[in-house]
Amino acid sequence: MGVQALYALQNGFLGAPRSLLFYGDFSAERAQIPVACYLVRATDGTILFDTGLSPRAVPGLLRNDPMACFTNEDLLVHRLDVLGLEADDIDVVVLSHLHYDHAGGAELFARSELVVQKDEYAYALYPAPFFASFYYRKNFDLPDRRWRLLDGDVELAPGVTVLRTEGHTPGHQSLMVELPETGPVILTGDACYWQEHLDAERVPGVVWNPTLALHAIKRLKTLARLTGARVFPGHDPEFWRTVKQSPDAYR
Ligand SMILES: [Zn+2]
Repeated sequence: MGVQALYALQNGFLGAPRSLLFYGDFSAERAQIPVACYLVRATDGTILFDTGLSPRAVPGLLRNDPMACFTNEDLLVHRLDVLGLEADDIDVVVLSHLHYDHAGGAELFARSELVVQKDEYAYALYPAPFFASFYYRKNFDLPDRRWRLLDGDVELAPGVTVLRTEGHTPGHQSLMVELPETGPVILTGDACYWQEHLDAERVPGVVWNPTLALHAIKRLKTLARLTGARVFPGHDPEFWRTVKQSPDAYR
């Protein structure tokens, strides 16, 4: 019983100015950041954490963002195909939040349970004007799907636990995955963009509530210290160069 493997799936790259990466940094200097999804194989089923960019959105991003980079292999369906999986094989899709680079592929999973915090779903449908450009309604306005709206932490399956980490957005959530050999891993999503956000307690530049975002970072740091978990930040180019990428897996 429990988790068998964790796969890191690359879903292309975006360009982002430091002002969007680090709260209070006004530099326009840009960095190329990875877009990541993760697949968890467990005895009870197959769980996907985040769905990356919508293929529909990619042409526009490639046109408007000189650092955007997206190959055919980066398509989520192709990443799953390499693992012998189709969208219908995914039992549960956990969405850290509903920003366009995390919820873009949600519509692919017609058979899956879609897990998101209730507050995130409500806010994404009616975001504040300053945040509206990060939410593409087409990505998540899917009323015929099986949405499971959470209100806080929950253990989804043995060794797979949702951790509420709001702040970046009103209902952001991270995922702790307890692996038999590697030990616990925390997939932060956008609660921590880079390792630097964790180490220096830097809040993401794109943020709904910076105080809560800082609490989320401290919460994940504390949990990591108490459990010995490794922390996988959401958009860290340095980390991404060292991560074991699919089809290799953390066991
Ligand atoms: Zn985000």
